[in-house]
Amino acid sequence: MFELMKLPFKENALVPVISENTVQFHYGKHHQAYVDKVNELIAGTEFQDMALEEIIERTFDKPEYQVLYNNAGQVFNHNVYWNSIGIGDRLDSSVKDKIAEVFETRDALREKLVDEAVKFFGSGWIWLVEGSGGKLSVLATRNGDTPLVLGYKPIFNMDVWEHAYYLDYQNRKKDYAEAFVRQLLKI
Ligand code: MN
Repeated sequence: MFELMKLPFKENALVPVISENTVQFHYGKHHQAYVDKVNELIAGTEFQDMALEEIIERTFDKPEYQVLYNNAGQVFNHNVYWNSIGIGDRLDSSVKDKIAEVFETRDALREKLVDEAVKFFGSGWIWLVEGSGGKLSVLATRNGDTPLVLGYKPIFNMDVWEHAYYLDYQNRKKDYAEAFVRQLLKI
């Protein structure tokens, strides 16, 4: 059984970029609901003692497990999301070097993240990931998909489901993306 992760900051810590109200709904209701649904679906099954990542790998692309896959993916993705806050201040030097190699400047990386968020149609996630050869790239995934099943290691992400920003930004997704990248990811 899984528990909702502890938030690594106070619910009002993301103000003014993200309101306390949004965090309360996003973490306390949406993220909690994904955890609850996974627990409900794995109880008494072969999945009940597995790590979250293993559940995701084993249910990927299997229509009979699609609901479990989607919800487990969303638990994982939100765990990464809350842990992405402030990550720009914590990147180790090898990741910084790889960012410079691929994107040249932090401005260019920021621009790419915002651009991908704005043009993404529907519900999903924008990620900075590391490929098997160590190369970094910006990746978009749909719904509850995670980069894990595509062979990438996540470094950080940005939630572009409407529930992540709609209470604060309504249709101004670009404003959310710009503020999130610069002030919360601190990229
Ligand atoms: Mn979300």
